[in-house]
Amino acid sequence: MTTYQRPKGTADILPGTSELWQYVEANARKVFDEYRYREIRTPIFESSDVFSRTSGETSDVVSKEMYVFKDKGDRMMALRPEGTAGVVRAYIENKLYGPEFAKPYKVYYMGPMFRYERPQSGRQRQFHQIGVEAFGSNSPALDAETIALGRDLLNSLGAKSLKIVINSLGDPESRVAFHKALVDYLTPFKDELSDDSKIRLEKNPLRILDSKDRHDQEIVKNAPSILDYLTPSAAEHFAKVKELLEALDIPYVVDSTMVRGLDYYNHTIFEVMSDDPAFGGGFTTILAGGRYNGLAEELGGPQTPGVGFAMGVERLMLLLEGKEVQQQLSTYIVAIGADAQVAALKLAAKIRHQGFTVDMDFMDRKPKGQFKSANRENAELVITIGDQELENGTVQIKNMASGKQLEIKQTDVNDDYAAVRKQLLAD
Ligand code: ATP
Ligand code: MG
Repeated sequence: MTTYQRPKGTADILPGTSELWQYVEANARKVFDEYRYREIRTPIFESSDVFSRTSGETSDVVSKEMYVFKDKGDRMMALRPEGTAGVVRAYIENKLYGPEFAKPYKVYYMGPMFRYERPQSGRQRQFHQIGVEAFGSNSPALDAETIALGRDLLNSLGAKSLKIVINSLGDPESRVAFHKALVDYLTPFKDELSDDSKIRLEKNPLRILDSKDRHDQEIVKNAPSILDYLTPSAAEHFAKVKELLEALDIPYVVDSTMVRGLDYYNHTIFEVMSDDPAFGGGFTTILAGGRYNGLAEELGGPQTPGVGFAMGVERLMLLLEGKEVQQQLSTYIVAIGADAQVAALKLAAKIRHQGFTVDMDFMDRKPKGQFKSANRENAELVITIGDQELENGTVQIKNMASGKQLEIKQTDVNDDYAAVRKQLLAD
């Protein structure tokens, strides 16, 4: 028989680990709610144009990482490589730009993304992002709040050794001026650049700043700084963001060589990195984002400023490894005999309806084996029902930590299990 393996770069998230994912997701929802972001769920696949128009044809994502396929109607589709483009598409299609009083329009999403990359630690082909987008405000205060939200999110999850790095890519006018200065600087090095960067020099020189090639990085070190080319209004926006971060006591560093992998960013961009030993030396980016005024127009929508970020959940998980979030089992019911099993099933349902977790035996184990299961599940309380208890209309309940045991009427368990539990836990 052939056996099957999951596709390269994907993972099975199994019980034992999925609890940690639920913890992260629940925590994220809570923090987003505090900031008044609401959830949006968009399709996992879209017309591939949605991504190529927004991320840019020369971005790594579109040029080599996207999972594209033709559907049976001959339409070019893509599995989403990131969340923002689909959210912007939905924003326009559903006319969420609506009334002035509803601005900014703030949403969050969480779910799988797909990129054909070389899998390695913290880098997969199906990975997960949790992200936010806020539309309709040009205020630098929203940039600062978004950065604060990213930091609060990571802090609330217990991520440590964080560094916030920011930069400004300016407005289109700043970009034109910088573009020219950068090309003037890089052209003499043309023959030394990596093959990828030779092409970038023609098509998208800004991207060379983000090159992973060692020698490219050497050359880029002395390149002009975008911050010297900001127009007065772009410079003022960036100054205001920095001022607000200081007012919020959010430490940051400015890295004028930082750009983002996708073409749509302008003005403030930021990354939250960590040099936790889990990443094996050096800083790794966990969360990244920025402002993307003009993206909605790119997809045929009205002029709409936007700002957001995405957090890589797998990268975060590397930081949280070993964290215990499994909840203790409240009650295990040991049933001795066939009649007792029926009673145990009924009792389990009654206790569960009162909001407690209950497990019992479904493998016809002897009482000794059932107690073993209870121990393995780390049950707080163990209920035992045998013929004698059935006759008396009672159950035995034992506090596994203290050893305290009581015989309790079944009706008491059915009516108010919380009170019964209290009795057992009292010393
Ligand atoms: P990198 O330079 O590491 O490839 P990127 O610029 O492509 O990152 P973004 O598109 O900004 O990444 O995505 C935001 C975050 O999503 C990243 O900071 C990272 O935490 C996570 N991420 C991106 N690609 C992957 C992947 N293939 N596997 C796991 N996480 C990823
Ligand atoms: Mg990438």
